[in-house]
Amino acid sequence: MLKIFPWQEGQWQQWQLTRKNDRLPHALILEGPEGIGIDKFSRCITYNLLCEQLIDDTTACGHCRACDLLRAGSHPDLRMIEPEEEGKQIKVDQIRSLIDFINLKSQYRRYKITIITPAESMNRSAANTLLKTLEEPPGKSLLILLSHRPNLLPITIRSRCQHIYFKPAYDKDTLNWLYDQMNDPSQAEQLLAMAGGAPLAALELLENNRLNDRNIILDDLEALMEKQDDPVKVAEKWNSMNANHVLRWLLQLIGDMVRLKSSAKPLKIQDADLVTRLQHLINPLDLRELILCHDLVLKNYSLGMGQVGYNSQGLLEDFIIYWQQSINKREGN
Ligand SMILES: [Zn+2]
Repeated sequence: MLKIFPWQEGQWQQWQLTRKNDRLPHALILEGPEGIGIDKFSRCITYNLLCEQLIDDTTACGHCRACDLLRAGSHPDLRMIEPEEEGKQIKVDQIRSLIDFINLKSQYRRYKITIITPAESMNRSAANTLLKTLEEPPGKSLLILLSHRPNLLPITIRSRCQHIYFKPAYDKDTLNWLYDQMNDPSQAEQLLAMAGGAPLAALELLENNRLNDRNIILDDLEALMEKQDDPVKVAEKWNSMNANHVLRWLLQLIGDMVRLKSSAKPLKIQDADLVTRLQHLINPLDLRELILCHDLVLKNYSLGMGQVGYNSQGLLEDFIIYWQQSINKREGN
């Protein structure tokens, strides 16, 4: 049976309380970092509202007509809205058809549920169209917006929704869960730190051998510092590795350099296994320059993830040139 993840217990209690007190909102935003499992949480809410024989008034039974239909992906009172192609926008036509759907009567006299994911993919006219429905919601319907970057949603939408927040999780239960998923649990704690407290992202690092990419990027940063590599070639290589993914690693690595430079305790850094190499890289730089580098990566990462199709290689070159300039400046070249 579908169950929430152990680190979502608090949010689940909060949801149950709202439901049992009959204070369900019309619209809900689930927000948290990638790899924290908000999509699964939304499915648990769906089962919770549509199951016809809840156990202890809380847990979906797993075998009623509604649970069967949900499992088969064919429940008539649930609609999912996603971009038609990955990474593209959610269009106004999709939102219009969603509104037609929620204005129809529920087939099973329970809730009508729509899930929009990722919600920030709605283009402006899609968001404006949705807004009208949020202002005058039909009865017994729940709209769930999923977002890893809720700050990209219009404030007019945010302010009309109830929010459930998912913070990074480092606690014992989360670690125990991670141990159970791994053949070699000795790396679990470090992986979780590197994934910024998002357990599913920690597993993905392991499964897709993404850890190796971090080492490649660090090698390249060192080579650039020693002027042993051509910036354009490095940008080409990074672009072929997936620009957003590289920018995310850069964000983490340079974030750690900032923490090291500002003498924060090394324990707090995400790449604890790389302290010596990071220390070597930051020697010629001062804190202000590192912070500016971090700001630039953050800006380019947001641009790369945004709705406008930026040239991803350009975003990487932009950073590489800045990185080399910062080093040259310190060396007085
Ligand atoms: Zn059921």
